Amino acid sequence: MRSDGSDPAVVAWVGLGGNWPQTPRLFQGALRRLQSQALVHKVVCSPLYLTEPVGPVCRQRWFLNGVIRIETGLGPRALLRLLHRIERSAGRNRKQERRWGPRGLDLDLLFYGARRICDRRLIVPHPRAHQRRFVLQPMVDLAPEWIHPGCGKTIDTLLQKVDDTHLTILWDGWARTLNRSNASRAATRTFFPDG
Ligand code: ADP
Ligand code: MG
Repeated sequence: MRSDGSDPAVVAWVGLGGNWPQTPRLFQGALRRLQSQALVHKVVCSPLYLTEPVGPVCRQRWFLNGVIRIETGLGPRALLRLLHRIERSAGRNRKQERRWGPRGLDLDLLFYGARRICDRRLIVPHPRAHQRRFVLQPMVDLAPEWIHPGCGKTIDTLLQKVDDTHLTILWDGWARTLNRSNASRAATRTFFPDG
């Protein structure tokens, strides 16, 4: 490990969420931004799911959720700062939004290798990752055997046992979003394991 807490190439998982009409394009922009970083490699995105809103704000659009796997030389705090910068450039302004309410782009750091971190700004593994079907479902699509470093269980086991009954429905609009844009097929293949 380096002095800034980073490893030469750690596998990190980022949760993607949002429920604005333009959210698919914001996801696409976020993937491109991640891919353009010198210290971020092998960006792969899960399938996306339409998910029922969780929490007290019920009367809002369903969310789109997925997860991104990256390999990175950034330390965990630098990675969270990068995620916040990407959120801001997608128009996110936390001061103007309600907790659990509508947002265009939410990027959460779910896992940073097997590291466990708990400070004022960053908790890893993300404290609700193991309780949310909308996190576990897309992560199972990419890495069912990934072990949650907090409880030692695989993501597959956590999904089978999760109490969260909110619906998650596979969304088939991603390919259309990518095809409408100028994304090259090569870039698409980079993001999607079988794209
Ligand atoms: P949420 O994602 O819980 O709906 P926010 O995206 O507004 O809400 O995040 C709230 C705060 O949570 C952020 O200011 C951030 O510093 C903090 N935070 C702590 N741990 C994490 C993490 N693992 N990933 C993302 N944000 C985190
Ligand atoms: Mg967040």
